[in-house]
Amino acid sequence: MPQTDKKPVWTAQILTLFPEIFPGPLGASLAGKALDKGLWAMNVVQIRDYALDKHRKVDDTPAGGGPGMVMRADVLAAAIDDVSKDDYPLVYLSPRGKRLDQELIREFASKKGITLLCGRFEGVDERVLKSRNIREVSLGDFILSGGELAALALMDAVVRTIPGVIGDTDTLTEESFESGLLEYPHYTRPKVWEGQEIPEVLQSGHHGKIKQWRQKQSEKLTEERRPDLWNQYLNQKK
Ligand code: SAH
Repeated sequence: MPQTDKKPVWTAQILTLFPEIFPGPLGASLAGKALDKGLWAMNVVQIRDYALDKHRKVDDTPAGGGPGMVMRADVLAAAIDDVSKDDYPLVYLSPRGKRLDQELIREFASKKGITLLCGRFEGVDERVLKSRNIREVSLGDFILSGGELAALALMDAVVRTIPGVIGDTDTLTEESFESGLLEYPHYTRPKVWEGQEIPEVLQSGHHGKIKQWRQKQSEKLTEERRPDLWNQYLNQKK
């Protein structure tokens, strides 16, 4: 098929030992439809294809001893150098990295694509991170068995911000973190459920009052649940 008239779309390049994991959950629902429609793209790269010996070895024992295996710098560098693109951020998913948040997602979404390195075993040889200037990004303060789930989470969060993926773009601007606050509570029919009624104001049809109520609820929830975000929010308003 001729590609010349096609506008390039946001593309995730994924370096992994388990390509079969992708697109996984991103093949379903809105992200899946968007992938089929060509609103975003994926390039999954098997790291093992860049192994340098006949046994296709990608890892080795840790220098200095200790448990587990470490992914080799030479193999990873060969893979990275072959696929990475200048204007794509190069990211290693790692529990030591900067914690992923919506601000970082917005930054990644503003680029043409991203190259994601998924670790396995004990992680990767430190030297490749340094020599290829790789940013480390973490999904949170817990340990996964590999970077693939973190990569999928990051990709999902970017893909849903791409125009045309989610029908109603208001959804995006109203969401938690966009305004620095957590989102207000939602309700839908039935009007009364197990003795609990939908708050009166939401049934009033008064848009101004509804907006005010939602803002108040957002503030209350954020203050109660996330003092860190709440303080940031107050400081920004000053
Ligand atoms: N020994 C490492 C953990 C290795 S877990 C440590 O203690 O820091 C194996 C791989 O899973 C890592 O190389 C990384 O790519 C991925 N991973 C694990 N936890 C992660 C997290 N919270 N965020 C992103 N990637 C993670």
